[in-house]
Order: sequence, then structure tokens, then C-alpha cells
Amino acid sequence: MTDCIQHKSETSEDASKTCIFCKIINKDIPSSKVYEDDDFIAILDISPANKGHTLIIPKKHSETLLDTEDEILKEMLPIAKKIAKAICQTTGCPGYNILINNYKVAGQLVPHIHLHIIPRTNKDDFQLEWTHKEYEENEMQKLADEIKSSL
Ligand code: 5GP
Ligand code: ZN
Repeated sequence: MTDCIQHKSETSEDASKTCIFCKIINKDIPSSKVYEDDDFIAILDISPANKGHTLIIPKKHSETLLDTEDEILKEMLPIAKKIAKAICQTTGCPGYNILINNYKVAGQLVPHIHLHIIPRTNKDDFQLEWTHKEYEENEMQKLADEIKSSL
């Protein structure tokens, strides 16, 4: 099994004692909340990439996309849509990035799944860039077939 599909066994009860986002959800730590319903909170990131950077956090503890229930994931994007619109209206940003970091190697600092909405401006210093790699001959189709057969 590779690192990226290891599931953590921490229960919600354990997590509420150690996980910073569970503590925020339980109101043990204060936050600047922009949204709350039965299953989610959305808060301003304490150390934002740009002002208005918001985190949408399911109340039920799970670490990454892979161990989050589909029902929760289905609710998440419509909430992101509503909040992104409100952020754009409030900050006047002409665009935004939406991302979920999964595992340390991808920059996940808090192991409780959350979706970032990062408002963008024309002159900000936010970077999400990569150098574009190339495939060898046939490599691309072979890889696509391998991924497809692992679904
Ligand atoms: P990750 O790197 O895990 O995708 O993002 C975690 C985010 O949570 C970071 O952008 C960080 O600034 C934010 N964060 C960490 N601790 C707190 C906190 O106590 N309160 C709030 N509002 N944001 C936090
Ligand atoms: Zn948690």
C-alpha cells in the first residue's frame, strides 16, 4: 500500500481532543465564522493567502478526501459555490482558487479535510504553478489504462 491510500484510524472522539479544526467546531477555540449548518462550518483562514481566504470544514472528522463520506462531499461544492460568490461580492476579487490539500506531501498541514477558497487579485503573490512535463511515446495511454483499471 502506498502512503497516499493509507487510512487513519483516529475516531471522531479521539480527534476532538487533538484536532485543531474539531476544537474550532466544538467552540473550544474561537474562529471567524462565515457559515454554519448541521454538517459544516466555514471560517476565515487565520493565516490567509489573501484576505477573505476561507476554509469549508465538515463537522465530522475525517482526514482526507479518500476517507470522507460521499454524502459529505456532495454537499461541499454547493456550499463552496455560495461562499465563493459572497467572497467575490464582499472583497471585489475578480477570481478565486478552490483547493483541497491531501496529505503532507501536497501541503496538508491540518489532517481534517477542508476546502480552501482563495480570493485572487491581479497583482497578488499566490503561486500555484508547475513546470509542464512530457510523456514518452505510449506512456500516456498506458498510464491512463492503469488508472482506469484501478478504479
Ligand atoms: P492545509 O495546509 O492543511 O490545507 O491548510 C490548513 C490551513 O488552516 C492553513 O491555511 C492555516 O493557516 C489554517 N489554520 C491553521 N490553524 C488555524 C486556526 O487555528 N484557525 C484558523 N482560522 N485557521 C487555521
Ligand atoms: Zn478534526
